[in-house]
Amino acid sequence: MNLQISLPRRTPCVFKCPYCVVEEHDKYTGAALAPVEFVKAMNDHIYSGQYDRIIISGENEPMQNKDYLICILADAPKDIIIEVTARGFDFDFLIKNYPQLIKRINVINFSVCNDDKNPTHWYDKQLRWAEHFHSVGVITRFTYMMTKKLSPNQIKEACHLSFIDQITLKEIQGTKPWIKENKSNFVAKVLWNEITDKPYKDVDRFIIFRVHGQTIWVDHNCQDGSGNYLILRPDGEVYEHWEDTIPLLQKKASERNE
Ligand code: SF4
Repeated sequence: MNLQISLPRRTPCVFKCPYCVVEEHDKYTGAALAPVEFVKAMNDHIYSGQYDRIIISGENEPMQNKDYLICILADAPKDIIIEVTARGFDFDFLIKNYPQLIKRINVINFSVCNDDKNPTHWYDKQLRWAEHFHSVGVITRFTYMMTKKLSPNQIKEACHLSFIDQITLKEIQGTKPWIKENKSNFVAKVLWNEITDKPYKDVDRFIIFRVHGQTIWVDHNCQDGSGNYLILRPDGEVYEHWEDTIPLLQKKASERNE
């Protein structure tokens, strides 16, 4: 089980990704603890022993909340795996100012979307950062949004880059018009058909296969936490689903009293 650490929405996200996952969650309107108190609450949950990794995500782009991120990297228990997801952050800031702390990140997850809105050099920059993180021992994962503009060749090329440790193809989620128009599992199907004659089944949450020596995870529903993760929200409480407004412990207590 992992614990998704949802950092508070302090600065409105500037990236305006057309597939924004946060806008598909019910926007959290509760209180937010300050960084030190938040990390203390996080550690109390981690010491319960039911989590083997924490994934730092956010009520919006987590890297825009560096004060929380830095406290977590400094104070999380040493034996918990830390994974960071980030879409648009300028990693040069972390590399330059906190070279020791970035080594505390176990997995860094770069998110790529060919959506015509991001300059093409943005992908090159993410590759350069990944090369650096890989060189200091961080596991690098690239998550490619499965839009119509993603090509099988881009993924095949990524399979050959030695500094990319893991690749995920993510089905874009939501009901916004951009998502409806641009969603396509074409690339996953093309790659799948190159390795097997079996039919492609996109009813399972994950499909995992190997292409050009690289393991590809296809994630058909990243919003489905059931059995995979719980969520620590900015109030320091754990929630079961993104749309829940009542913390899990409170929910369980009221179910017991019914
Ligand atoms: S970076 Fe994250 S929070 Fe910001 S717009 Fe993109 S998906 Fe939404």
